[in-house]
Amino acid sequence: MPGLIDEIPSSALAVYAHPDDGDVACGGSLARWAANGCEVHLVVCTDGGRGTTDPAVEPEELASRRAEELAASARLVGLSSSLLLGLPDGELTDGPELRGELVAQLRRLQPEVVLGHDPTAVFFGQHYFNHRDHRMAGWALLDAVSPAAALPLYFPEHGPPHQVRATYLSGTLEPDVWVDVTDTIDVKVAAVLCHQSQFAEPGEWAGEAVRLRAEEEGRRAGVPYAEGFRHLQFGA
Ligand SMILES: [Zn+2]
Repeated sequence: MPGLIDEIPSSALAVYAHPDDGDVACGGSLARWAANGCEVHLVVCTDGGRGTTDPAVEPEELASRRAEELAASARLVGLSSSLLLGLPDGELTDGPELRGELVAQLRRLQPEVVLGHDPTAVFFGQHYFNHRDHRMAGWALLDAVSPAAALPLYFPEHGPPHQVRATYLSGTLEPDVWVDVTDTIDVKVAAVLCHQSQFAEPGEWAGEAVRLRAEEEGRRAGVPYAEGFRHLQFGA
């Protein structure tokens, strides 16, 4: 099927802004890869401490609840590690501080492929536009992958250079590859449902929404369930 990508990378690093983003964006792909021997790591940039409509919630309390939710979902997905950088939610800046931190993680973990937010995706229909932290994290990650992590004179204090082979950008308006997540859609739904702090109404409706979204991408890829990405390859 054109656009369907079957590779199982040997290692992958997903970098997302908030604790639930990775599961929503690519939990099915991460679970599929992990189940097939890929070492999968996740770095979450913010503490997620502002992700609520309830004014009575303390940001620290919410952040610690979200860290627990992430730990539970990471076990389901089969992550090798998950790391919260703990930057303040809503305040991500695409600057040398975040870029340097991501270069350090890329050089430490040396992933073959990287996943993250597509920062060029801004407007989704007429009711939603992409969260600022997603845009900032997406740009910082791209610039960290190339050229910064790959060239020795960028951030020499963060270790020897590392060349990522490919990136998969999620939340994109222009997907050009799809990963078949038919075997892992149930894991993805369960992982998303771990993040109950993000749902105004507790319950299963969010799982249904995740399933419908994966079905939609599946139709474009010719499989029951899929996740779509903008794909970039380096050094080929
Ligand atoms: Zn988010």
